[in-house]
Amino acid sequence: MKKSAADIREDLKTHVDFLAEAGAGFVFRGAQDKGAAVRQGGDSQALPAPGSGMSSLAGSPAQTAPERKALEEIDDQVRVCKLCVLHKFRTKAVPGEGNRSAELMFIGEGPGRDEDLQGRPFVGRAGQLLRKIIAAMTFREDEVYITNMVKCRPPDNRVPHQEEMEACSPYLIRQIELIRPRVIVTLGKTPTDYFVPSREGMTVRRGRFGDYRGIPVMPTFHPSYLVRNEGNRELKRMVWEDMQKVMMLLGRK
Ligand code: URA
Ligand code: SF4
Repeated sequence: MKKSAADIREDLKTHVDFLAEAGAGFVFRGAQDKGAAVRQGGDSQALPAPGSGMSSLAGSPAQTAPERKALEEIDDQVRVCKLCVLHKFRTKAVPGEGNRSAELMFIGEGPGRDEDLQGRPFVGRAGQLLRKIIAAMTFREDEVYITNMVKCRPPDNRVPHQEEMEACSPYLIRQIELIRPRVIVTLGKTPTDYFVPSREGMTVRRGRFGDYRGIPVMPTFHPSYLVRNEGNRELKRMVWEDMQKVMMLLGRK
């Protein structure tokens, strides 16, 4: 799909807006030493490594046509799924969207009100901010994949319960196995706890790569946390710092 000059200008504007809001001009340190960032991830593994005993997904071969079909089938299954109580509250389930062979995957907590109404992930206020961040990272939205830990909206946007995540996680794990992203970004505590478990707070965990079956996982703050703390430029700066590490790893910087 070819972009019009107006689209490109709009992308660039979002890019510059986010950089300005994130306090661009600060000197970015740390990402130069990619190895250190990856190594740091290792010290949060006091808990059992997630996916241990499951095969590594690093350097796997390119996606096949049946695998692409399998991804579509997951979407269909999710839309009619009744494996946990969350199905009772949903308007629409939200399987995820984006490039089905994306090298970069974002994982949030669960759909909110807007997402539940539209059946699409990250379309509300937090979503607009996430999409700004993606543009600032020089990715088009249709180049990345965006999804959530649970695919149906928890009532009043509460944190999903353990049994709900257990019921839903096979869909997400299968999506990861089929998409095989080169990097995963976990947004906020819920997906971070699942993929790179640790007892430390997000302030300590963010910005350090963890590992899920050979895929580097970068935890960062959830965009709704940034929305709730709108005046806090330091938070935006930290998220931008984390995303630059991801860009380095993907050769975008
Ligand atoms: N928050 C999330 O965690 N996911 C969404 O899709 C929207 C808001
Ligand atoms: Fe099924 Fe997941 Fe929705 Fe629960 S949250 S009903 S497991 S799709």
